[in-house]
Amino acid sequence: MKAIQKRKLENIREEFPILHQKINGEDLVYLDNAASTQKPKAVINAIKNYYENDHSNVHRGVHSLSVRATEAYESSREKVSEFVNSPDKDQIIFTKGTTDSINLIAGSLTNLIEKNDEILITAMEHHSNIVPWQELCKRTGAILKVIPINDNGEILIDKYRDMVSNKTKLVSVVHLSNTLGTINPIEEIIDTAKSYNAITVIDGAQAAGHLLVDVQKLDCDFYLFSGHKIFGPTGIGVLYGKEDILNQIDPYQFGGEMILKVTFDETTYNDLPHKFEAGTPNIAGAVGIGASIDFINSLDRDLCHQYEMSLHDDALGKLEQIECIRIIGKSSIKSAIISFVVDGIHPHDIGTIINQKGIAVRTGHHCTMPLMDFYGIPGTVRASFSIYNNHAEVDKLIDAINLAIKMLK
Ligand code: PMP
Repeated sequence: MKAIQKRKLENIREEFPILHQKINGEDLVYLDNAASTQKPKAVINAIKNYYENDHSNVHRGVHSLSVRATEAYESSREKVSEFVNSPDKDQIIFTKGTTDSINLIAGSLTNLIEKNDEILITAMEHHSNIVPWQELCKRTGAILKVIPINDNGEILIDKYRDMVSNKTKLVSVVHLSNTLGTINPIEEIIDTAKSYNAITVIDGAQAAGHLLVDVQKLDCDFYLFSGHKIFGPTGIGVLYGKEDILNQIDPYQFGGEMILKVTFDETTYNDLPHKFEAGTPNIAGAVGIGASIDFINSLDRDLCHQYEMSLHDDALGKLEQIECIRIIGKSSIKSAIISFVVDGIHPHDIGTIINQKGIAVRTGHHCTMPLMDFYGIPGTVRASFSIYNNHAEVDKLIDAINLAIKMLK
């Protein structure tokens, strides 16, 4: 087979229209990629093209537009399926995003979870991988347990091994922490959970855009992510599930699309994936995520990772030179996310001042309040890098932070 020539990253920035603007009179420096990535023209055009030429409702329609819209929707499912190496495209459920995917699982699992069963998550989870499980525990009487981490922001894997037991029914872990940048040893976590027949859920919201994901190799039961963090649109997300478990669990929303037959007495559910996609889906969103996957596939992913890490290493080295800065999250295996606090200055104040210099970073608890409690801080300043950032922007970030410290100290 002829190898497809992957594109290099030079000029990639030109493909992102939003980056070419001034904020407060300065060139925009967008370093909030962990919250949401910007969109390349290819994704914007795919959505525009869909609405201008192909839009109609999907499935069951006999007219040409409906057939075209269905083809576009289902071909995106195929792309997502290949992207994560799912054995079958019908194991890919389109959702609104990672949060929606986790809620779908937690809402659908009620019949498999019993009183005193244990659900394990880690101390670094996003609220969306905490609250749905708390609610499931409330409904079923199951118990939520938290796998601890060390000060570097790494899971204490020995403690985890001690915690897993025959009572463990589900283990749900973030692949790549949005706050710390830690890449978790999910292979090991999944293997251990499986030896106790626990269901495994991996929150891939941050990982899918930066790491190669192979759900068959991982052998997890569920893997979830959001379109908007992989250069795709908001309002579309993915739930990959193993076929047997998707067949065992009940749908969590009911209505059109998800049925095979309805009478006033009873309803039979549709096959996968439609059983979990009640109502008219986000067709344009699916088209957009398909285009974002094409975009990612056109790039050399190893090169993307190396480049993002070179920006990370550059920024980290320079931040560590600033005396009053403390880095939060020092895992030896991490991605291009840097969180830090400045002694005596609230993260929001830093964020507000550097915005005056056109620099967009996220400040606050990053939807990981229990993690902030662990570190005893109200929040962090977080800079997160993508392929369209550059080293000149790292320098602008450092200059702006130094300025903010001078003004606020
Ligand atoms: N998990 C992680 C690790 C995240 O970073 C996010 C988004 N910040 C989510 C879950 C939730 O994703 P969404 O808001 O797209 O549903």
